[in-house]
Order: sequence, then C-alpha cells, then structure tokens
Amino acid sequence: MKGTDHLERGQRLFYTEGMTERMDRIDEVLTRLQDSAFRRKFRLGAKERVYLDAKGDALIAAHAYDFIARRLAPAMPPNDGKQTPWRGHPVFIAQHATGTCCRSCLAKWHGLDKGRALSAAEQAYVVAVIARWLGLRAADDNQHGNGSAPSPEQTPFHF
Ligand SMILES: [Zn+2]
Repeated sequence: MKGTDHLERGQRLFYTEGMTERMDRIDEVLTRLQDSAFRRKFRLGAKERVYLDAKGDALIAAHAYDFIARRLAPAMPPNDGKQTPWRGHPVFIAQHATGTCCRSCLAKWHGLDKGRALSAAEQAYVVAVIARWLGLRAADDNQHGNGSAPSPEQTPFHF
C-alpha cells in the first residue's frame, strides 16, 4: 500500500521519547474527529497543497508553533472562539479540522482546560496534531482529488 509518506513526515519532525504513545493518542483523537460531520468537511484546497509543498514541513510547523503560541496558548487568548481564520493558511484549515481552533474546541476534543496558559509540551502536542492531520490529508487528497474548506457562512459553529 501506498501512503507511508505521511507517517514519515510526522515522525521526522516530532521525534522525541515517548513519541509512539503520543502518536497513538493523536491518531485516536483524529479517529474520533472523523465522527464529526463538521470536522470531516475540512479539506486542503489546491492552493493550500501547493503552499504546503512549497514551504516544506519544517517551515509549516514553525508557522503552526507561532500561531498556537500567539492565538491559542495564552490563558485568555484574544478573541477566543474567533481567532482562527477559515482560510489563508493550511494550518488554519487543519486547526478547524482537528478541534485546535479555539480554547473551547481544544477543551472539548483534547481535554486541555480553558482559562490557563498551555505549557510548552501542550503546545508541541497541538502542533503535532496539526502536522499529523496535514500529513494525512496531503496523502489523501493526492488520491481523492481536491476539496476546499467550507465557507464561514455554511459553518457558523465550531462544534
Ligand atoms: Zn473552535
């Protein structure tokens, strides 16, 4: 079977001790997210895939770290619930797809409580979730053609 590429992408970037357990946990959450019709709708569009390939995994992960640190990690993120745009960067799409878009979704899907700052390890976990989803979707979309992110009008709620 084709498609070990995405595993290597995720593993290459985030290899640390205990990674196998962490990857298992991430895959478990990603499987649960597939049960949500809302989360399932998110796909990388052609533009996002081109961007992803052009920038490379390391730079995309750096962008993800930056977005998470500024928009999600503070105890009270500015504009929480609306801080993640619907398009414009593959990481934003991945955040909506993985329930890492705001602190309410992060609490609901990943069990990380609101009202306190995320630790460095938790931020790394969130980035690993995003990277994993991007790796899987990049492989997926190559096989199944492109979709695009739903418009905000169609998706007023995060749950
Ligand atoms: Zn959210």
